[in-house]
Amino acid sequence: MSSKVWFASVDNNSSEQVIAEKTFSLYQRADMGKVLEEGDLVALKMHFGEKGNTGYIKPGYLHDLIKAIKDCGTEPYLTDANTLYRGERAYSVDHLMQAYRHGFGPENMGIPVIIADGIRSKNYSEVAIKGKHFDSVKIANDILDSDALFVLSHVTGHGSTGLGAAIKNLGMGCASRSGKQNQHSDVKPNVDASLCTACGLCILRCPVEAISWVDDKASIDHEICYGCAECIAACRFGAIAVNWEGTSQALQEKMAEYALGVIEDKKDKTVYFTYLIHVTENCDCVGRPQNPIIDDIGILASYDPVAIDQAAVDLLAKAARKDLLQDLWPENDYNLQLAHAEKLGIGTRKYELINIGS
Ligand code: SF4
Ligand code: SF4
Repeated sequence: MSSKVWFASVDNNSSEQVIAEKTFSLYQRADMGKVLEEGDLVALKMHFGEKGNTGYIKPGYLHDLIKAIKDCGTEPYLTDANTLYRGERAYSVDHLMQAYRHGFGPENMGIPVIIADGIRSKNYSEVAIKGKHFDSVKIANDILDSDALFVLSHVTGHGSTGLGAAIKNLGMGCASRSGKQNQHSDVKPNVDASLCTACGLCILRCPVEAISWVDDKASIDHEICYGCAECIAACRFGAIAVNWEGTSQALQEKMAEYALGVIEDKKDKTVYFTYLIHVTENCDCVGRPQNPIIDDIGILASYDPVAIDQAAVDLLAKAARKDLLQDLWPENDYNLQLAHAEKLGIGTRKYELINIGS
């Protein structure tokens, strides 16, 4: 069995209005309104772009889609979950401000932004799954509690996973901070005493009092710590680093298992749009402009996150006449996330591409 993936081409000169119209055409051709019922709370999961980033999905791409979703009598909202690392999106307050700075405020979009895991990433639930790495995953509640989910992904390369697209947007993007840390590594954080200024913020923020003073520096007791990663985001001096010790294979498989937890109860109410526009070597968490690695290709829509990711990498490879992402990240084979997601029953790598024309 293959899944359908609809495609609309764009080029480097396509305006935001043209991209918005094509997004709406895909919505219509794929009959995506059928997943919506009057009164639904509809989460539009996206990445608002780190401060300084320029590759993220632009607000203007979404205007026609949002209107169509609202016309079904629903109540949509834009959403994302807070980051693991300390940047401009680590807590809901700065995350919201960052979204507004990039044009996602309600006056422009006509709908609110809700950061789905709460101001300090404690608003999440454990969802039971049957995975190779996890038997439960920690997903942001205000995504879990939505009635329908639109997953809006910008295709990028990635230094740890090779590919950032729908599976990553679901798995990493909808996880609580502790869930993100669990995907990157099961190893608990440590304090680098040489960078610790003894400000005490991490001690204040640790929910289980796992941090105390040792020789006037913060020190983490791993017997008590449960790896929530709150101290990593709290430390302004980089003394508690994100633990990136996991392998790319484990990370990608864990990400796919988290993706399963996000959609398991709403597979029939979840749809995907993926933008092969301003494709960059690294993801939208990078806080600086990145040049595109290829000319703009188009927009994809599907009901299947595995099929849409497979179609995205195939279109990239076709346009580049080589496997661009494998060339960029040879040690991070993106096929691992696709294969594991398929094995988990999230979707299929077999797809039928339906070009809706230019
Ligand atoms: S927040 Fe960072 S600098 Fe402050 S006490 Fe903790 S580890 Fe040290
Ligand atoms: S990871 Fe969480 S539980 Fe562990 S020391 Fe840091 S704040 Fe405390």
